[in-house]
Amino acid sequence: MHQMREYTREALVQRLSAAIRNVPDFPKPGIVFKDITPILADAELFGLMTQALAAPYADAAITHVAAVEARGFILGAPVAQALGAAFIPVRKPGKLPAATVRESYTLEYGTDALEVHADAFTAGSRVLVVDDVLATGGTAAAACRLVERAGGTIVGVTVLMELGFLGGRAALGAQRTDTLLLY
Ligand code: AMP
Repeated sequence: MHQMREYTREALVQRLSAAIRNVPDFPKPGIVFKDITPILADAELFGLMTQALAAPYADAAITHVAAVEARGFILGAPVAQALGAAFIPVRKPGKLPAATVRESYTLEYGTDALEVHADAFTAGSRVLVVDDVLATGGTAAAACRLVERAGGTIVGVTVLMELGFLGGRAALGAQRTDTLLLY
């Protein structure tokens, strides 16, 4: 196994924050895109981020991590491995091959939908939802509703960063929500 240096949470947060690339006006004018690819491109930092996302849930008996394509998969799969949990992909409509459950949600303009395999969870499933960015919260809230409709229990939502000024936490109601970085 590779060696990782020990970091305080504060030092790690600082290093993660410094690595995120802000790309103005992407994918459209007025949006500052938070690009996590410089974190992924740093093997040590990618590993440290995974550990830090998983750590608050180490004793939460998580059985499944659910994450929304595409960046959610990149963070969610190693977090699932770190927690000894299964990984459940949440996808855009029409991508999953077997029977699915679908949940629609409202976007700034129009609606979108997410799907999960109908047999992904059982009554005892304790699920952690993982994503890179919590913005308005619409995506994470829809993922939570979807997991519950498919028979799982949401234990928490964990993200790398929360754009606090967009109020996503309120959209998640009383749901436990953890973030490493708050903007
Ligand atoms: P929302 O549903 O508004 O909370 O948006 C969350 C989803 O959109 C997440 O899956 C993010 O990956 C993506 N997202 C929203 N805002 C940004 C941003 N400023 N930079 C990068 N990704 C974003």
